[in-house]
Amino acid sequence: MKKTLVLATRNKGKVLEVERMLKIHAPEISLISMADLDIGDIEETGNSFEENALLKASTVTKLSGLAALADDSGLAIDSLNGEPGIFSARYSGVHGDDAANNAKVLRLMDGISDRSASFIAVLALTRPDGQSIISRGEVAGQIIFSPSGDQGFGYDPIFQPTGFNITTAQMSPEMKDSISHRGKALAQIAPKISPFLSLS
Ligand code: IMP
Repeated sequence: MKKTLVLATRNKGKVLEVERMLKIHAPEISLISMADLDIGDIEETGNSFEENALLKASTVTKLSGLAALADDSGLAIDSLNGEPGIFSARYSGVHGDDAANNAKVLRLMDGISDRSASFIAVLALTRPDGQSIISRGEVAGQIIFSPSGDQGFGYDPIFQPTGFNITTAQMSPEMKDSISHRGKALAQIAPKISPFLSLS
């Protein structure tokens, strides 16, 4: 029997990625979105990816009475002390302006030789009895000097994963999933979703 899970994000790029990966890792799960339930944006007031993911999932569970899966993710650049971090989506001041966010990173890194960075994703799964599970995935890489590629979203055009000479914006969706931070976090949590929902 299909089990329903609410995906607690309004980011279309992430919805597509999570749907694609859950189809492979947990096909018994039927996903519905916050938009399906008319739930608006949830303010991210936490101080870490973990806090924000839990906040989003538990808020959606409270509002819907259903189990929810939330992601909080971002880019952490070593030479910028981990920035943009939890502020990744709004680094340039305008939420979701990917081009402006990328331009700000490239400007701040002008003349900096240490280009190492990681994408980080934390997933939180919550259910109505208050129980939760968390998973975390990371992918290391480098910030390149000018944007390249038109796949993906966010900082993909300026991020080149270690071991590749292309950015994540030059990868096919399947290739990005197989190495990405969200791919790793999802592969970890996917086998736990059905048992977690059955025990609620
Ligand atoms: P969130 O919606 O608060 O988790 O914001 C995540 C932000 O981090 C996104 O808007 C992107 O700017 C960035 N980000 C997270 N994952 C990725 C990715 O896979 N590729 C590129 N940028 C990402």
